[in-house]
Amino acid sequence: MNSREKIAAVPLDTLKVIPYPDPRLKEVCTPIDEVDDAVRALAEKMAELMFAARGVGLAAPQVGVSVRMFLASPTFQPGDLHVYINPTILAHEGVAHEEEGCLSFPNIFCKIKRYAQVTVEATDLSGRRFTQTCDGLHARIVQHENDHLEGVLLADRMGSVAKLTHRKALRQLEEEYAS
Ligand SMILES: [Zn+2]
Repeated sequence: MNSREKIAAVPLDTLKVIPYPDPRLKEVCTPIDEVDDAVRALAEKMAELMFAARGVGLAAPQVGVSVRMFLASPTFQPGDLHVYINPTILAHEGVAHEEEGCLSFPNIFCKIKRYAQVTVEATDLSGRRFTQTCDGLHARIVQHENDHLEGVLLADRMGSVAKLTHRKALRQLEEEYAS
């Protein structure tokens, strides 16, 4: 399926954040061919779901649409909403070891090592390519959400200590999903 078919396959009003270990979270996402009204409507619906869940980032595969788009709102203000379509991380600098969560891993927070600063190139909702350098939480969100587009999850980034600490919570999510 191309991106247009993937977006059309999931009706907007049925979208919701899917939890780990839903296999759709492990897919490598498809590039978006064209930024059209369907892509803009998907982004709008994702923003609604992200703010409702009190998240600061959300990737399309987290709502079951495996296309290369994610959102970030590092200040959690509706006016501060960044949309990244077909993103590429061009450069990075430094290291930051901070607490991180994920809407697909409810109630799990753990320290994850990320780059302190990244430069990302992406397409915006008007179809224009842009380049942005961000740091702090914004850089962390970009790296976390960009991972989602490759099917890489918080659990894959956890160190052995964090995995042990959150073993029970992860198993609980697995059991909830299976039932
Ligand atoms: Zn996530």
